[in-house]
Amino acid sequence: MERLECHVKEYAWGKNGSDSEVARLFASGHKEFSIGQTTPYAELWMGTHPDGPARVRSTSEKLSRHIAKTDSSKKLQKEEIHLPFIMKIMSIKHTLSLQVHPTKEQAARLHQKDPKNYPDSHHKPELAYALTRFELLCGFRPAEEILKNMKAFPELKAVMGEAACDQFEKLYKAGYSQDSIQLKNALSRIFSNMLYIQVDEPDFVTEQLKLLYNRLAKKVRGCLIEDTVRVMEKMYNDFPNDVGCFSPLYLNHMILEPGECCFYAAEELHAYLSGECVECVGCSNNTIRAACTPKFIDREALIEVLNYRMTKPEFYMVNADKMDGFPHVVEYAPDCKDFTLHQIEITTDPNSLSSQLPAKLPSLECGSIMVIVEGEGYIEDSITNTPKYVTRGDIFYIRPSCTVRFNSITGNRLLAYRTFSYEEGPDHSNRKTIPIFPQTVTIEDRFSSKKNIIPIGKDKVSFGMDIFDVESEMDGFC
Ligand SMILES: [Zn+2]
Repeated sequence: MERLECHVKEYAWGKNGSDSEVARLFASGHKEFSIGQTTPYAELWMGTHPDGPARVRSTSEKLSRHIAKTDSSKKLQKEEIHLPFIMKIMSIKHTLSLQVHPTKEQAARLHQKDPKNYPDSHHKPELAYALTRFELLCGFRPAEEILKNMKAFPELKAVMGEAACDQFEKLYKAGYSQDSIQLKNALSRIFSNMLYIQVDEPDFVTEQLKLLYNRLAKKVRGCLIEDTVRVMEKMYNDFPNDVGCFSPLYLNHMILEPGECCFYAAEELHAYLSGECVECVGCSNNTIRAACTPKFIDREALIEVLNYRMTKPEFYMVNADKMDGFPHVVEYAPDCKDFTLHQIEITTDPNSLSSQLPAKLPSLECGSIMVIVEGEGYIEDSITNTPKYVTRGDIFYIRPSCTVRFNSITGNRLLAYRTFSYEEGPDHSNRKTIPIFPQTVTIEDRFSSKKNIIPIGKDKVSFGMDIFDVESEMDGFC
């Protein structure tokens, strides 16, 4: 088990200073770190992706190299072996842009055509586990709800195109299901009209948005709940001229309570709105943006990539599964091979099943990353057999087949998250990213009093002649 040093990403949409769980968690693991109160701490990256690679604390070596060195099962010797996922902690203050991620095949094609905007040839499924109340837009609403909102808000039909909307309604009333290719094609047409009207007639969009928000002020609701109206008002305030402000009328507004978890694969339109979460994503940084961003919007790719599934928000929820023999572990296993998430909760409550110590974690035949988010205690692994004191903010890489157990905890509760996958991650060896201006931290090793200088923190990368900030979840809009 190796302790890791991981990157914090500062994006404009992140929560500021001590309001951000990203900042607080990082500070808990680094006593020497002082939180900048006006700095937006958006994401903590725990993985091997070249845009924010974790390093082994004791050696400063990149985790991908450490895995390649220690993985005895690989016949082919590689310099670096990547994990197929990045686990993140996210703290979101402002809505992120409306976006979609490509499938593996689409990603490979986009990367070949436009490597600057699509730096990876890999897909990016996403899972969000709510740490606080967490809100997002995800997937098209059921056809019936879209039709209801078209009726209540004529402005929606105006930007989607009257004739195309009538055709959508006619097909639905004729009995075509929302899974039929005919209705999906009709949805694709109205969605495409809406994206291009922003380019062709921006003043018309601004005018229709004013009418829409006047109507909302007069308590017209269609099938919107009050929470969605609140989200729309915030979006309009941030993006008064953006056609993306219509999106809650045709996308599901999901509100996750702490402990709830959702997942969506490629081809699903989505936007994070607010809150804090543990996120698991594929080891990729490809995003196609639709709206609500000053960044590159690729309408053509977007229209082609979307799957136009219309469904209820429940479709995206992930079950919390108990694990036989491990009462302190809850598993979130979405329908994808790139990651599975374990929530580990050990308490001293004598009435709780998760109070039995020592508490063993499932032994996995693959590498995993674990972050302690609450509490402290002693942990032991089957490689060193030496108890280690661990506390909130500590992040570990656990080797395949290494057995880990918590021997004791101090306080009432210890809470951790662990992500793993049996897949091997993508090959990033040809990725043209060169870290420049790296920030470093000096850390003192708790166990050996050794001092290490570790490159960490925000970094920029150069690609060919262009210098640009690497941003993952697209940037938000401020
Ligand atoms: Zn995304």
